Amino acid sequence: MESNGGPPEVRTTTLATLPSDLEEQTLSIFDTLVSKGEIIYEPSTTDTVEDQGFKFEFCLAPHLRRKPITPSDAPERKTGQGSNPFLNPDPNFVLSAVGPSHLLLLNKYCVYRPCLLLITRHFAPQSDSLDRSDLKAAWALLTHFKHKHMMIFNCGYEAGSSQGHKHMQLWRYPDESAMGFELFPSKATSTSEITGDIANVPHQHFVLRLPADVNEAKLVEAYSELHQAVQECHAMHGGGPAYNVVLVKEWMCLIPRRHCGLDKGAGANAAAMVGLVWLISNAEKQIWSAEYFKYLGYSR
Ligand code: AMP
Repeated sequence: MESNGGPPEVRTTTLATLPSDLEEQTLSIFDTLVSKGEIIYEPSTTDTVEDQGFKFEFCLAPHLRRKPITPSDAPERKTGQGSNPFLNPDPNFVLSAVGPSHLLLLNKYCVYRPCLLLITRHFAPQSDSLDRSDLKAAWALLTHFKHKHMMIFNCGYEAGSSQGHKHMQLWRYPDESAMGFELFPSKATSTSEITGDIANVPHQHFVLRLPADVNEAKLVEAYSELHQAVQECHAMHGGGPAYNVVLVKEWMCLIPRRHCGLDKGAGANAAAMVGLVWLISNAEKQIWSAEYFKYLGYSR
């Protein structure tokens, strides 16, 4: 049991002892909380668009209007004190411990059925990079779930994070045949050379394919190499340090960020930067273009 910080009722697991029916549980608890109105979720309408050869999906989810956004300069982002739903999370939302230092939670404002949060038990700022234990916990889930999942991490306010306590998000990998395109990082082929020139992607991106025999050390090494590329990109343009991470079993992608987009009326997280754009209103559609992706990140 956890002795200080973190909900005491959540037993610590080793990564090897995640419940075998965890994925099924997430769905049934999600459905129950939606029916009670505790999770804010409505099926969204989607359409695929293309600008200058770059394809992306609009996912209209007006209920996201209710999602709170912690201001960039709020003390919660530095100290974790104040309005922080992840410090003592609602026990109804807690699905499982994931190793000694993380908890798996249901997201309260969901675009997909369900959206999951992987939070640190103790406060760490969302502007900190992922460390070995974070990657290990995410990887344990990506390899544990029966259906393919993706993990995103929005590092910093400009990367689109709405909460300041360190957390990753996970959900089932999108149905690429329904969308009519594959997420662009899937096109990267090299496990050793960073790919940053995928055709038609308007913004700077850094991708490594992960070898089939990836282990913790290789995962950490891939992250560190990609992060180095992000830092060099920021340094070249006098910006930084925000960035997005998208991780699946086959690849890892990091994207440097300059703007979160709320200043222009269309916020963007890691999902948006790989082409899964969540909208609160139809009016936002006019903002999205290849040029807008360059504004959110850096032009290639
Ligand atoms: P991000 O926007 O990437 O910082 O992710 C933070 C997530 O926390 C958002 O997706 C919100 O939907 C979610 N969230 C906000 N408040 C709560 C809460 N009280 N319980 C669970 N999830 C929450």
